[in-house]
Amino acid sequence: MSSPKTLEEQYGANNYHPLPIVLTKGEGVWVEDTEGKRYMDMLSAYSALNQGHRHPKVIQALKDQADKITLTSRAFHNDQLGFLYEGLAKITQKNMILPMNTGAEAVETAIKAIRRWAYDVKKVPHNQAEIIVASGNFHGRTTTIISFSSDTEYQRAFGPLTPGFKIVPYGDIEALKDAITPNTAAFLVEPIQGEAGIVIPPEGFIRSAYQICKENNVLFVADEIQTGLGRTGKMFACDWEQVVPDMYIIGKALGAGVIPVSAVAADKEILGLFEPGSHGSTFGGNPLGSAVAVAALKVIEEEGLPERSRILGEYFLQKLLTLSNPVIKQVRGRGLFIGLELTTKARPYCEQLKDLGLLCKETHENTIRFAPPLIITEEELDWAFDKIQSVFQM
Ligand code: PLP
Repeated sequence: MSSPKTLEEQYGANNYHPLPIVLTKGEGVWVEDTEGKRYMDMLSAYSALNQGHRHPKVIQALKDQADKITLTSRAFHNDQLGFLYEGLAKITQKNMILPMNTGAEAVETAIKAIRRWAYDVKKVPHNQAEIIVASGNFHGRTTTIISFSSDTEYQRAFGPLTPGFKIVPYGDIEALKDAITPNTAAFLVEPIQGEAGIVIPPEGFIRSAYQICKENNVLFVADEIQTGLGRTGKMFACDWEQVVPDMYIIGKALGAGVIPVSAVAADKEILGLFEPGSHGSTFGGNPLGSAVAVAALKVIEEEGLPERSRILGEYFLQKLLTLSNPVIKQVRGRGLFIGLELTTKARPYCEQLKDLGLLCKETHENTIRFAPPLIITEEELDWAFDKIQSVFQM
């Protein structure tokens, strides 16, 4: 009988380059491979596991709901979705929510909402709406989203690309100002760029960008899919600069690593422009995902995960800053969202850490991202630091 890994290699499209390890169990911060070896998960499925693997309260909600009804489609109401709306409205301070499944779908939804607002409210001439985005962005993998990536690897041989986007350097407020025209509908931005390697913009950038958008009747849209729900030490990364964006895009940890759940949150003036038939998804807003997401939000609140992330993130960052090795170019982070940038390829270090029982992944070749579940303890971080220290010891 072939092993699951061999079968993956035999039949799977080659669009990922996983570390050579086959996981079979997960609990909290820890996962186990098919050989029974335990590892600490310091990637958290790209921040989708803020609550940890199989959080008991989330799994209970999943089981309870699975015993009742799992999918209705939006052709009918279900008795769970309303509670998800209520939970999201509370944390975003927005009065309208549109549920989807994956992050990329939520970004696509945001783009449609932005364009509709541009034509129906701002009165931009038909088909002329522009959305400004940042260099180094990562918003997903659909054809439209890769169209405004600044990474040509994401675009190669996937054209023709979707027009209507302008790229400005991330963190450059003057470039943003210069890029705005009467046809600009929105500035779509990650408050910290995760996939780019935990890139934090200059202090005040998010606040100033928001203000410039307000002055020009441009929507400020925050993609908080990776940074939201406590990851950076606040509920949303925009909170660090006291900005409430016109639109939030949320995903990943909203499903607590159990079910894909994503959403766009904005006010009625924007999301109210959708009418029946203008947008949808068979699975978006399904009762199983909604029940899981409600439990996921409850865990974040009850366990104070944003605050935990802030305090433990600072603790861990200070430890990482003590590492001394010339290959370490920079250590940066906010909350438990930390990047260790090297002057050399990061992959061999991730492989060594894996052998020591710590799972993390390189991003953009040179940066190791440390983003453990936010339920991690100080002792577990000490354990992780020991491993990291031994890898970078000279
Ligand atoms: N936006 C951001 C900021 C992300 O980090 C990601 C995924 O890493 C996405 C969007 C895409 O989400 P998904 O992979 O669920 O489509």
